[in-house]
Amino acid sequence: MKVTADRDRCMAAGHCVVTAPAVFDHGEDGLVVLLEPEPGEELRTAVETAEDLCPSRAIVVAAERAEVAGAE
Ligand code: SF4
Repeated sequence: MKVTADRDRCMAAGHCVVTAPAVFDHGEDGLVVLLEPEPGEELRTAVETAEDLCPSRAIVVAAERAEVAGAE
């Protein structure tokens, strides 16, 4: 899973840090710092919850492209 956190959109609400502390942290400015841009699947629920809770839509979980054998 790939996730991005846009510091230009972040309003330092902190929901992501509480929801998925292994993936998100705060910088000294209070804005999100992405600790793990490719978290393991075991963290998917937490990361997707953080995406849903973020009030500024700064967190985006990339849509997974279906793996098709023989594609490309
Ligand atoms: S939940 Fe969103 S607005 Fe709040 S700290 Fe995280 S990225 Fe920033």
